[in-house]
Amino acid sequence: EVVSVQDFASRIGKTAAEVIKKLMGLGIMATINQEIDAETVQIIADDFGFEINIKPEENEETMLLAAETEDKPEDLLPRPCVVTVMGHVDHGKTSLLDAIRETNVTSTEAGGITQHIGAYQVERNNKKITFVDTPGHEAFTAMRARGAKVTDIAILVVAADDGVMPQTIEAINHAKAAGVPIIVAVNKIDKDNAVPEKVKQELTKHELVVEEWGGDTISVNVSALKREGIDELLEMILLVSEMAELKANPNRPAKGTIIEAELDKARGPVATLLVQNGTLRVGDSIVSGAAFGKVRAMMDERGRKVEKAEPSQPVVVLGFHDVPQAGDIFQALDDEKLARYVAEKRLSKKREEELKVAPRVSLDDLFKQIQAGNVKELTIIVKADVQGSVEALKQSLDRLSTDEVKINLIHGGVGAVTETDIMLASASNAIVIGFNVRPDSNVRKAAEAEQVDIRLYRVIYDAIDDIKAAMSGLLDPEF
Ligand code: GDP
Repeated sequence: EVVSVQDFASRIGKTAAEVIKKLMGLGIMATINQEIDAETVQIIADDFGFEINIKPEENEETMLLAAETEDKPEDLLPRPCVVTVMGHVDHGKTSLLDAIRETNVTSTEAGGITQHIGAYQVERNNKKITFVDTPGHEAFTAMRARGAKVTDIAILVVAADDGVMPQTIEAINHAKAAGVPIIVAVNKIDKDNAVPEKVKQELTKHELVVEEWGGDTISVNVSALKREGIDELLEMILLVSEMAELKANPNRPAKGTIIEAELDKARGPVATLLVQNGTLRVGDSIVSGAAFGKVRAMMDERGRKVEKAEPSQPVVVLGFHDVPQAGDIFQALDDEKLARYVAEKRLSKKREEELKVAPRVSLDDLFKQIQAGNVKELTIIVKADVQGSVEALKQSLDRLSTDEVKINLIHGGVGAVTETDIMLASASNAIVIGFNVRPDSNVRKAAEAEQVDIRLYRVIYDAIDDIKAAMSGLLDPEF
């Protein structure tokens, strides 16, 4: 909340000398580059006969904007990649995360026992890799629906004795919808009935063609149980990471995402943060959603105190006054007053917004949005009772794309509409078509909360007709 004499003078159209003279009148000996505070500015402006009203709002918005300035390319340095493990239940996601963590603990210097804090880092060839320790595409997409883009690379775990399963396909589609590259880990190769080739064969049906078959999908055979193939998997992650040229600017106030947060009886709010840009330091003021505070202490995944956290580094942070929400963005700010102000403003804004309806794509207003130029693509998720219907709908939908609007089916699957489907729809601004399936009440509630349009049909033609009608503005609104 300070401004230099020079800046202030030019803003009110006076010379610096005139301002300095006024300052002297107040008993302040100032030079041209000296900074004067808001109160002094107000007095001098009054003196000059200017009506200025230093609104804290404007000041704080300006400071916030300053904290959001884009980084210059020359300030960007390479940063470690952030990896999420996905795949069908029981295919070994948790085991793989454990295996990677343990392999690394023995290879680095002694430290405490690794605790589950929601993310951890390992080192290989002097390069770090960050793993998000909550496996599964559900967590991944729930975060994405909240606006967080955390993951750089997805590891798709497929058990070699089981092959591609419904959640494998879901995971593929969720990763693709997020534009995240996939590395396949064919797991459980230690088992007698493991057939890794079958897994690779099945993956081709989902546009993942492994390198040995002429595709560009990297695949590694592993056994999480026997700790085999882990090194090679890490190598491949580093390879993909290098190709992605991931960068961040460590020399700015930190910004990132809340990975986990809870209220600890003894320590108060405890949050695991992933720093994505800048450097977070003990003593920094911090705001996330409507929660704010000052970083009192930071710990790594082994419970060791750290003074700072750099890009892609996860840390446990103490010092929030309230528990922030997982998936929310956090930001370090110059002072705690500003952090409090932002948090309060957000809280009131949030209350306002809860009363309003967020604009989302729905079939009812699709045409309006097309005409307004808001929509170039209609993103759809299809759930049906049998695979045949998914395929039939997919083919009919493909044919509906026009020059104005492209139809993009991001996920089709057999079974009821689930909350995960709603989260994917929310994260991707998609509508959900249910064919001969019904969402249960929890799913309906989630859809309502996320403002996701669910359409239920029994006849394929009806679904196609509705979408055609919506694209041309002829749909009768559904009530
Ligand atoms: P998740 O549901 O994907 O997290 O799967 P888990 O990691 O919980 O593993 C499911 C089961 O598969 C557990 O009983 C594991 O011990 C077993 N499992 C995981 N990886 C391997 C492996 O590489 N080989 C064998 N034989 N079993 C494994």
